[in-house]
Amino acid sequence: MSKQSPQKAKHVQEILSVLAALYPDARPELHFTNPYETLVATMLSAQSTDVQVNKVTPAVFRDFPTVQDMAKTTPEILLPYVRSCGFKSKATNIVLAARDIVERFDGQVPNNLEDLMSLKGVGRKTANVVLANAFQIPAMAVDTHVFRVSNRLGLAHAKNVEKTEQQLMKAIPRDLWNKAHHWLIFHGRRVCKAQRPLCNSCALLPLCENPVLSPKKPTKK
Ligand code: SF4
Repeated sequence: MSKQSPQKAKHVQEILSVLAALYPDARPELHFTNPYETLVATMLSAQSTDVQVNKVTPAVFRDFPTVQDMAKTTPEILLPYVRSCGFKSKATNIVLAARDIVERFDGQVPNNLEDLMSLKGVGRKTANVVLANAFQIPAMAVDTHVFRVSNRLGLAHAKNVEKTEQQLMKAIPRDLWNKAHHWLIFHGRRVCKAQRPLCNSCALLPLCENPVLSPKKPTKK
């Protein structure tokens, strides 16, 4: 693996310093208290919002408090609890993943990428989020915000999430991966929005490789 240039390393360091100052309290916005809850909440959050997931999970965790309880239920019973988070398949995947955890992993949510990704409905992003949030294992989960913001800033130059993940892991010190993931999400939600990013008031504008600046108004004569 080639080392990044000193200029690139300095650019990355400056961006990370600004993000750290902007979002000192960046943390997961989903609510969970253990690896099982982290997995369920993260699976529900795909194509939904954290706010919506946080509305449904208290009832889910009350009525299915352990992975064994979830494994014993059926997708049909779970569906009414989670329907507002989209896709019927989420209920099926959560129940099947729970059964898999009970049967293949002795009831313990796996703490490595390969085993997590072997669970029904668990992709790379979900697995990385669980590693980072449930086990505090450094992981670079690339969701839509991380992908967009990191490529606009120039932390990555990639057309897909896998390449973005690889480039971010190379550019950012390993002990900052989990924090950087949250910083980029916070910045994407609050400032570097998908539509109409607030570039003109963005603290990272001087460091950003691809700002989306609104055209200047023509001056009146
Ligand atoms: S300057 Fe614009 S594109 Fe760059 S990080 Fe800020 S909001 Fe995003």
